Amino acid sequence: MVTGRRLAPRADRERLPVSDERSDVVSSPYPPIRGFIENTLIDWEGKIACEVFLPTCNLRCPFCHAGHLLTDSGELESIPVEAVLDCLERHKGWIDGVVISGGEPTLHPSLGAMMELFRSHGAGIKLDSNGTHPEVIEDLLSRGLIDAISMDLKTALDERYFAAAGTTCDLDAIRRSIQLIMASDIEYEFRTTVCPAYITRADLLDIAQAIPGARKYILQQFRPDDCLDPAMNEVKPYSRETLREFAEAVREHVPSCIVRGDWAGPSGS
Ligand code: SF4
Repeated sequence: MVTGRRLAPRADRERLPVSDERSDVVSSPYPPIRGFIENTLIDWEGKIACEVFLPTCNLRCPFCHAGHLLTDSGELESIPVEAVLDCLERHKGWIDGVVISGGEPTLHPSLGAMMELFRSHGAGIKLDSNGTHPEVIEDLLSRGLIDAISMDLKTALDERYFAAAGTTCDLDAIRRSIQLIMASDIEYEFRTTVCPAYITRADLLDIAQAIPGARKYILQQFRPDDCLDPAMNEVKPYSRETLREFAEAVREHVPSCIVRGDWAGPSGS
């Protein structure tokens, strides 16, 4: 078992090309959809939603479970946007909205157009993002296209981030996304997957310094299953009790911190 140590990026992970370039399939006015769940009760707390998965990501987190989405190799089924619209129409009055996940959705310049399309069918929108493109988040917020956002915080915002993200990235951009989200009036959460190979109690306390007073901070259990870096499949997760101890320590700085699945009290967060 591998626990409590930081692992260097592995060669097999690095073989997947990493690009921060924002690009769409030119023949479509909307981003490609490579995964679709008709309804989910767990990806937008308190809501019934459908969920779409957009391909490509500019990070290579070793514990990622979406390795099939990190590049758009053409091997995955292409789901027409009409399938999502049909789902929204069939479940009108019952479904609350669409969760847009990935991959990293903000890499697609036509993301806003897709959100407008879903909005025109009465859907609320939740965005999952790694926060590396604050200019996109700012634009979507200013257009009123996001009702809720989940932003990943891989670890503390220093060189530790590059190990947990599996590549270098612009930490100032991530800080800017945090500022934008915390200054907004939409529903939001920051979340950290607590992989023992990359995250210790001390790391979590450092992350907390970056989001003082955040309305919601979630610690997610790491699952050693089908990870991007196969070495992560050998890492023993922290026990739930340990995660709760971590959350309690973090609450000194971010009182909203809980472990995913634990009750947050009467207010829900
Ligand atoms: S965990 Fe998220 S941000 Fe990290 S590589 Fe996977 S899809 Fe990208």
